[in-house]
Amino acid sequence: MTSNHELFDRARQLMPGGVNSPVRAFKSVGGEPFFTARADGPYLWDVEGRRYIDYVGSWGPMIVGHNHVHVRSAVARAIENGLSFGTPCPAEVTMAETITRLLPAVEMVRMVNSGTEATMAAIRLARGFTGRSKIVKFEGCYHGHGDAFLVKAGSGALTFGVPTSPGVPAGLADLTLTLPYNDLAAAQALFAEHGRDIAGLIIEPVAGNMNCIPPRPGYLQGLRELCTQHGALLIFDEVMTGFRVALGGAQALYGITPDLSTFGKIIGGGMPVGAYGGRREVMQQIAPAGPVYQAGTLSGNPVAMAAGLAMLELIQTPGFYAEIERKTRLLTDGLRAMAVEAGVAMTTNQVCGMFGIFFTDQTVETFAQATACDTALFNRFFHGMLKRGVYLAPSAFEAGFLSSAHDDDVIAETLRAAREALREARQ
Ligand code: PLP
Repeated sequence: MTSNHELFDRARQLMPGGVNSPVRAFKSVGGEPFFTARADGPYLWDVEGRRYIDYVGSWGPMIVGHNHVHVRSAVARAIENGLSFGTPCPAEVTMAETITRLLPAVEMVRMVNSGTEATMAAIRLARGFTGRSKIVKFEGCYHGHGDAFLVKAGSGALTFGVPTSPGVPAGLADLTLTLPYNDLAAAQALFAEHGRDIAGLIIEPVAGNMNCIPPRPGYLQGLRELCTQHGALLIFDEVMTGFRVALGGAQALYGITPDLSTFGKIIGGGMPVGAYGGRREVMQQIAPAGPVYQAGTLSGNPVAMAAGLAMLELIQTPGFYAEIERKTRLLTDGLRAMAVEAGVAMTTNQVCGMFGIFFTDQTVETFAQATACDTALFNRFFHGMLKRGVYLAPSAFEAGFLSSAHDDDVIAETLRAAREALREARQ
């Protein structure tokens, strides 16, 4: 039998860090990752045969659990007809009809292959549509690995960003203005100064890449008003929240109409899919209807569309989101109770089936609060849970996800593990 360790050893020789996406390498929590052999329902099994209750869900897509028979059969049927055509195919039309029906703000849509592609295209479109060059993003929000997003606030005053990765030109980073999330006054001040140069503001409407932080009441509405007032496009990055926090995404949950939205994860049912869409007059600027260029060899791939459509059918089951919300609440309430019992300061955030665990005694509403939490304690807790067969995201700054396959027994098993892991982790 091949062991996790042996595979990681081989992987490290040939792939940077041994992985194809950095967080998988466990650098933040320490130790070595396991290699998954198969997945089903709420579980992953590693190559050594160990079973884990999975709260990562492939980083969000697996909202109906792993390897769901409905999605799997749709893929099996689709592959009978070929893997890629490079011409339009009927499933793309059904996909566009489904998305635009579920999200009224999305009047037209373009399919791509990842969330990163969707956000990169959305800001190009915002720039092309407005003829302006600056974009606004929020510290701690993640929009994929496009150059324009790998930027954080520079020292000193709010505004101009500095690259967070070598290879991102400072000249490009200058065009990205960064703001603190959940601080409307800061956004108002920024727009007062730079409003006429801002093409678009991109935000995770529920932040999920600095753990899980919901917007303060009225915050998204305030941003909507600012963008309208200054002629900038409001872009909701719903790659994580889309079809996750509600069937209609965060825009439905909070009643906001963005100009553009980006999607990924759930929309592909586990296949590499992204999408962006929004107001018809804006989307009509995209080639070949308009002059803003964006293309993709595999975009609208028939197998990926079949997986995504099967997933979108499942999540339209009546009561689907209420049940995920109930079970996630069972988990977060239980975790907090276990923390009290263990004498550990912990709070949780939750929006439907998305949750965050914070080792602090505060309710976390900002990036600064999230980064001030006890990450060493999180790391010990993470490993304590892993040892007991529960896989949480291997970083204190990632949201957790529940699926409809996590039943009350699975949650009870998780809480039993948490009781022991918390006691072990406290020092
Ligand atoms: N936007 C958000 C909010 C995300 O969470 C992610 C990925 O986690 C992305 C964009 C990038 O998507 P992808 O990893 O599919 O490129």
